Amino acid sequence: MSVIRDTGQRALLPPFTDEHEQLRETIGRWVATEIAPHVDEWEAAREFPRELYRRAGELGFLGLKYPVELGGQGGDYVHDAVWAEELAAAGASGGVGAGLGAHTGIATPPVYRFGTPDQHERFLRPAIAGERIAALGITEPGAGSDVASIRTFARKVDGGYVVNGSKTFITNGVRADFLVTAVKTTEEGGHQGLSFLVLEKEMEGYSVSKKLDKLGWRASDTAELAFADVFVPDENLLGEENKGFYLIMANFQWERLVMALGAVGSMGRMIERTVAYASERTAFDRPIGKLQAIRHKIAEMAVKHEA
Ligand SMILES: Cc1cc2nc3c(=O)[nH]c(=O)nc-3n(C[C@H](O)[C@H](O)[C@H](O)COP(=O)(O)OP(=O)(O)OC[C@H]3O[C@@H](n4cnc5c(N)ncnc54)[C@H](O)[C@@H]3O)c2cc1C
Repeated sequence: MSVIRDTGQRALLPPFTDEHEQLRETIGRWVATEIAPHVDEWEAAREFPRELYRRAGELGFLGLKYPVELGGQGGDYVHDAVWAEELAAAGASGGVGAGLGAHTGIATPPVYRFGTPDQHERFLRPAIAGERIAALGITEPGAGSDVASIRTFARKVDGGYVVNGSKTFITNGVRADFLVTAVKTTEEGGHQGLSFLVLEKEMEGYSVSKKLDKLGWRASDTAELAFADVFVPDENLLGEENKGFYLIMANFQWERLVMALGAVGSMGRMIERTVAYASERTAFDRPIGKLQAIRHKIAEMAVKHEA
């Protein structure tokens, strides 16, 4: 009779392979040494150093799923999933993960997918290197879940567009060098009248109207932005005019998964901390982790996390 020996090693779950696990270790080590020791300070300061983007770029983390020709690592979405999970486990700071994650997970994907070669060079390559910070500007004071009701208007003029309007809750909004922005390009707007323009920080009329405070994720900068007669040249139109709603929907697929991956990453970290606490906290003369009800709770949490 042959018996499979239990080595005590956790089996890999598809689609993750050994290669992904090596990446997980590399990112995990970086998070543990260069992020975790500083997160309390960064959360209190309501920002983390801009330098962290450049450092992540240098280590290749900002371009895991992008082609080598554009400065990326030539990986795929599963590599990026590892990044999202490990970032979320960044000590006690969802904010650092949100800031770096918005750059890689929601703001640069549409530039890669819908951008021209020229836009790849101007926006994606420096973003992969961590030299230019990206943000995605969809939400407005009057348009959240109902994204089709966006009011920011881009009026067509010779050689480009003139943009007026505002955005809110924009992650990386205060320091973003460029903003992948949803605008109306017809008076009616809606599903058939939205487009995307890349707005750049130095464009006249582009301003950060407010840095928003939050209950959590405090190290991540979240901003309100205002656009007053911002001229945006034609070469900054991303994708087809009036097809922006499709871009939003395409982007949401990964954005929603990234949110779930982040939840999985932080849940894993919480279980580790719970187990450690249950081992050291004593009540009625023993660690509470020896109490059966607590052990059941932890087992249930671990099963949910694995699922
Ligand atoms: C920390 C943070 C970072 C963010 N970063 C970005 C960013 O980088 N870029 C960006 O563009 N946006 C960003 N957002 C905005 C985010 O995408 C919106 O908050 C989200 O789309 C919801 O919109 P809303 O807040 O206007 O809520 P609303 O759409 O007004 O929803 C309010 C409530 O009504 C419920 N609701 C809405 N519609 C329905 C319905 N049809 N049926 C049942 N219930 C409904 C919602 O579930 C919610 O509970 C961020 C938000 C936060 C909090």
